[in-house]
Amino acid sequence: MKTINIAIDGPGGAGKSSISRTIASDLHFIHVDTGAMYRAIGLYAVRNHCLSPEQMTDCIDSIDVTLKFIGGTQRVMLCGEDVTDQIRTPEVTMAASKVSAIPAVRAHLLDLQKKIAAENHIIMDGRDIGTVVLPDADLKIYLTASAKERASRRYLELREKPDCPTYEEILRDIEQRDYDDMHREIAPLKQAEDAVLVDTSDMGFNEVVEHIKTLIREKLD
Ligand code: C5P
Repeated sequence: MKTINIAIDGPGGAGKSSISRTIASDLHFIHVDTGAMYRAIGLYAVRNHCLSPEQMTDCIDSIDVTLKFIGGTQRVMLCGEDVTDQIRTPEVTMAASKVSAIPAVRAHLLDLQKKIAAENHIIMDGRDIGTVVLPDADLKIYLTASAKERASRRYLELREKPDCPTYEEILRDIEQRDYDDMHREIAPLKQAEDAVLVDTSDMGFNEVVEHIKTLIREKLD
C-alpha cells in the first residue's frame, strides 16, 4: 500500500502537535509526534543522570522507545512504561533538546519513524521530518510563529498553574531551544526547500487547521 505522508516541521511552541493532532483526527490519519520520542529519551537521561554524548551513545541500544496508538491518540512507551504524561516538564524539555543533538540517538529513532510512515497514512511533526525522515513526503509544511508570540501563547496556557514560569523565562527557554535546534550539526531545524511556509503569528487555531487541510486536499486531489 502506498501510504500518504504529511510532514510538519517548525520550532517549539508553534502549535505543530495540537494542529497536527486535530487535522489527523479530521482526516482519519495517525498523528506521530516525534518530539515525544526525543522527550522519552530525555526523560531516560534525566532519570539515569546520563546526558553526555558518550554515555548516551553507550546505552542507546538498550533504550526501547515505542509508540502506541489508542483511538488514534499517541502514547509513548519507554522500556515498556507509558511515560506520555511525564515528558512535558521544563527539565525533560531541555534534556530532549540536548539528547537530540547526539547522532546515535537520532539514528535510533530514525528507523522507527520511517517504519511507522511506511505502514500508515500519517501526519508526522518534528524538526527534521521534511528534510531527513520523509524527504519524499506528499506535502511538507514549515509551521512557525515569532518567538514572542510562541512565548505569550505558552504563558497564557501555564499562568493558572502552580510554579508557572514568568513570560521572560519562557521566552528565554524558547529562544535557547530555537538556537540549539537550528545550530546542531546533525539534522538541524530548517525549512525544507519544497516545504510550504505557514506563519501562524497572526492566525487563530482553526484558521491554521483549515488552511493546512486545504493544502492537503489540493495536494492529494
Ligand atoms: O516538539 P517538541 O518540543 O516536543 O520536541 C522536543 C525536542 O526534541 C526539541 O527541542 C528538539 O530538540 C527535539 N526534536 C528533534 N527532532 C524532531 C523532533 C524533536 O530534534 N523530529
